Amino acid sequence: MNLILLGPPGAGKGTQAKRLMDRFGIAQISTGDMLRAEVAAGSPIGREAKAVMESGALVSDDIIIRMLGARIDRPDCAKGFILDGFPRTVPQAVALDALLAEKRLKLDAVIELAVDDAALVERISGRFTCKSCGAGYHDKFQPTRVPGVCDACGGTEFIRRPDDNAATVAARLEAYHRQTAPIIPHYRAQGRFFTVDGMASIDAVSAEIAGVLDRL
Ligand code: ADP
Ligand code: ADP
Ligand code: ZN
Repeated sequence: MNLILLGPPGAGKGTQAKRLMDRFGIAQISTGDMLRAEVAAGSPIGREAKAVMESGALVSDDIIIRMLGARIDRPDCAKGFILDGFPRTVPQAVALDALLAEKRLKLDAVIELAVDDAALVERISGRFTCKSCGAGYHDKFQPTRVPGVCDACGGTEFIRRPDDNAATVAARLEAYHRQTAPIIPHYRAQGRFFTVDGMASIDAVSAEIAGVLDRL
């Protein structure tokens, strides 16, 4: 099964992608996570992407498309994948169509998580992740069961993203509306486009996505 999760920054794409990965044994492909790994490694891509990411703008299509092409060839994608944060521009969507055609793969569903802009700032400013296992949390909406201890691995160190601050969020939302939202008509025209109410609780969103997938 090959899926795209679409939605503005903080909509819940990563949260839901992890649940789908556990449920279906398919790979989560987050271009944001891949870029953060490149930044941490100090690679040439990371050096080029760092300042762009901190400003809230989008990294160049060229870099992203090359990175993604190599990623879906990896063995963990054999049963399928969930694209989380890709495509984010019309050229990326067009490049993905070509890549999938070349590999004789198809998209089963494109699922949009719809969340009001006003809710996103709070989602993003409360977000943190476990440093050792990457599990995602939220100060208010998804706290750890024991304060300061990761539910998944018992880790006690957490990270907050440098771009998860009010100033950068505005730029990221602007980039979403100007550069990413125009891919929605592209997928609507292809069919298998679904919109889910991303304002609902995390469990309710998971249930709505499961309902969409069951009906496929
Ligand atoms: P969010 O959690 O806000 O959806 P991501 O982790 O997906 O954010 O992305 C963080 C940043 O990485 C983006 O603001 C952008 O600079 C860069 N990035 C991630 N994916 C892409 C992409 N597909 N195209 C261009 N830039 C990207
Ligand atoms: P994205 O990958 O789309 O940027 P995340 O999955 O990282 O978004 O979610 C952003 C933050 O909001 C995280 O801290 C997460 O715990 C929290 N969150 C995710 N989904 C919901 C939801 N439906 N209701 C409330 N908080 C949520
Ligand atoms: Zn952990």
